[in-house]
Amino acid sequence: MNTYMENRFLFKFHGAAKEVGRSCIEICATGPEGPARILLDAGLKITEDREFFDDYPTEIDRPDEIDAVFLSHAHLDHTGALPFLNHMGLECPILCNSLTKEVAKLLLMDSLKIELLEKHSSVYNKNNITRVMDLIRPISMYQKDHIKGIWYKFYDAGHIPGSTCIVLEINGKRILYTGDVNHIETNLLHGSNEKFNNIDIMICESTYGDREHPNRESEEKRFLDTIQRTIEDGGSVLVPAFAVGRAQEVLMMLSKRHFGVPIYLDGMAKKVTKLYMQNGASLKDASALEKAWSGAIPIGGWQDRKEVVKQQAIIVTTSGMMDGGPVIEYARHHYFETKNLIVLTGYQAEGCNGRMLLEEGTLKLNEDVVKVRCKVEKFDFSAHSGCAQLKTMIKNIKPKVLILQHGEEKSIKNLASWCDFSEVHTPDIDEEIEVIM
Ligand SMILES: [Zn+2]
Repeated sequence: MNTYMENRFLFKFHGAAKEVGRSCIEICATGPEGPARILLDAGLKITEDREFFDDYPTEIDRPDEIDAVFLSHAHLDHTGALPFLNHMGLECPILCNSLTKEVAKLLLMDSLKIELLEKHSSVYNKNNITRVMDLIRPISMYQKDHIKGIWYKFYDAGHIPGSTCIVLEINGKRILYTGDVNHIETNLLHGSNEKFNNIDIMICESTYGDREHPNRESEEKRFLDTIQRTIEDGGSVLVPAFAVGRAQEVLMMLSKRHFGVPIYLDGMAKKVTKLYMQNGASLKDASALEKAWSGAIPIGGWQDRKEVVKQQAIIVTTSGMMDGGPVIEYARHHYFETKNLIVLTGYQAEGCNGRMLLEEGTLKLNEDVVKVRCKVEKFDFSAHSGCAQLKTMIKNIKPKVLILQHGEEKSIKNLASWCDFSEVHTPDIDEEIEVIM
């Protein structure tokens, strides 16, 4: 009897194909329980003008017939489309860990609030977010289980607390989805140290597929030295930071020195930091984050802010790209003093306020575009592996098929031309890739 069975997998890229944003990969396969359709992540692309069709993954046929969604982590570019998809009929189990669920809930609520503020309407509403939360089946790291005949197991991705790589097994064929992955040790996390065996198909992020990060330790020293000099010269420091992961990393670095001025924390980072402290097991050193938190003063609201801007201080606040949130109010009191400093600590997307600050020395503060007179510095505290680490990971895994996504075209091209041991795919948006094995 011939026991050999041919497996056919179809991968459809509804986002994050030669771009960063709106991660959403559909897999169609036939497992032991019949045909199945699943999604890996369901994210949003935050574009400057938030044009409707650019924001969401491209059209998914019959969302009501999707069997399961697997979430790698809470960032909106991996979860932000869930309420919209629920509005379009998605009603299946959503699998992720409980920390990802809690942080995603905060981010989705905030995203809806911003959408309503900016566009005065939204295709979905609060009920869709509530429904998405009800659909989530919390799973634990390293717990092996199955849904519709598809086995799955989540591994540590080292990107933000709770972030995961996901391994799926269908008819004995193993698919690895890296999600966003980081192998570099930070103050917040150890960095991923996972070993994956017998991977047939690897879907790999490629954010830094063509470049390396500076040495983490020397970057941290440069960061602290720059802030210290500003404080000694009588200036204040404004640190715009992403609420999820980056703000906590910044606080932990700041807690290593005594600056002699208050450190304030504002924006959604406060809630996220509390969630992380409640989930200490997902951190490298929970007590270090607690120490950093106790060394910072949380800002309650507008009354507090009015007082804070009158003092010499270090202010850590959202949003990381300076496109909204309390950072705008602080910047209005900060930009014209030459002794002050603005410290950018993360990726600044094309068209965002932080990018304009770096490239043109100007900032859009509400309706006014102003020439910035204070000092501006940029640091690289990325939560993504650099090119060398991505290559090491791919080389160690040696998948039969490598699919490169979640990166700009030049990053993906660089990795694709380097990899000579796998069948490499670099999908375009909406492209379908068929793998038969
Ligand atoms: Zn991410």
